[in-house]
Amino acid sequence: MNRGLDISQIVSVLKSVLGKGNASIHLHEPKFAGKEWIYVKDCLDTGWVSSAGKYVEEFEEKLAHYTGVKHAVAAVNGTAALHICLMLVGIKQGDEVLLPALTFVATANAVYYCGATPHFIDSDFQSLGINPDKLHDYLEEIAFIRNGFCYNRLTLRPIKAVIAMHTFGHPVDLDQLLAVCQKYNLELIEDAAESLGSYYKKKHTGSYGRLSALSFNGNKIITTGGGGAILTNDSSLAKLAKHLTTTAKLTHPWAFVHDQVGYNYRLPNINAALGCAQLEQIENFIKNKRALAEKYQRAFAKIDGITFFEEPGYAQSNYWLNVLLLDKDYSELRDTLIASTHEQGILTRPSWTLMNKLPMFQSCPHMDLSAAESLEQRIINIPSSAVLGEDVW
Ligand SMILES: *Cc1c(COP(=O)(O)O)cnc(C)c1O
Repeated sequence: MNRGLDISQIVSVLKSVLGKGNASIHLHEPKFAGKEWIYVKDCLDTGWVSSAGKYVEEFEEKLAHYTGVKHAVAAVNGTAALHICLMLVGIKQGDEVLLPALTFVATANAVYYCGATPHFIDSDFQSLGINPDKLHDYLEEIAFIRNGFCYNRLTLRPIKAVIAMHTFGHPVDLDQLLAVCQKYNLELIEDAAESLGSYYKKKHTGSYGRLSALSFNGNKIITTGGGGAILTNDSSLAKLAKHLTTTAKLTHPWAFVHDQVGYNYRLPNINAALGCAQLEQIENFIKNKRALAEKYQRAFAKIDGITFFEEPGYAQSNYWLNVLLLDKDYSELRDTLIASTHEQGILTRPSWTLMNKLPMFQSCPHMDLSAAESLEQRIINIPSSAVLGEDVW
């Protein structure tokens, strides 16, 4: 028998999973239980805190190794990393870039920084990211190819690239998306800010796009305080990424010569030191996050009116932020449910507002966004810190 959605029941299920004491439980908190103090102290003791030092290189090498790509270039944050990825595939003023309507604002902002126009794509209920089938059918309708380049029939602007964002750590169906990119001659960039430790068919996310961006903001899987990285298998693009993120200065023992307008997007050594220590613990973070997700999944399996979102069958997800999806009939109860959990000190939050509804992107092109609209009304993120999964074992 379906008794419908019972808010107090959901709050008590959350409490039972989280073993609620008196302190508030936040959505995603960092944990510093490794060599963070030692490495950061080393920076302070030696004076290497800023734009040079051994930890940046070490962090880049460890990141490349962990994600299975040839090169990682550290950056000051994920947004800056994404900006450089877009520049390096040649995104310029007048271009269009396809990206999900359901994403964090940084994805669209980075497109705008290049002078290009974000063009919003609908979501897939299986992954919460771009729906490759729907994108394909949409391009059939609105795009044409001339001299090997893809154009928007309606705006006559070139469509240059797709940004795949792996929502809350759940990988997009990359094989299907790559097939669409190939057919329409589009570059694939991955916004892998949320998917460090997530795999699509056994290969790490961020290793499929020509370039990909990671974020190490305080709420992400690992943190450097603030930070990001560019991933690529292309050695010349990696060199350019380093050049552009470090003011485009030519290497020379004393002379200051810059050969183009570059950016001060480098990650300080002290932040990279944190990153090295955090990366040493990532396997444990992911293991605990997945254990927490499994506990949620079991606890919510028989609860009416709401579903715990599980990784797509082709993926192994880091479960960066766990998701409860309200059934369609109960979406109007979302804010009441969120308020009830907050009263109990369990911090939850709704999905991001869709990009096409934000004032600065309202006039940008978009396809039918019915799936994204539905998800926007029904997503609730629940506490997901790795530490919450520790006592599950
Ligand atoms: C966190 C995040 C970024 C980058 O964020 P920064 O705070 O600049 O490191 C980009 N895209 C998505 C989807 C994110 O979640």
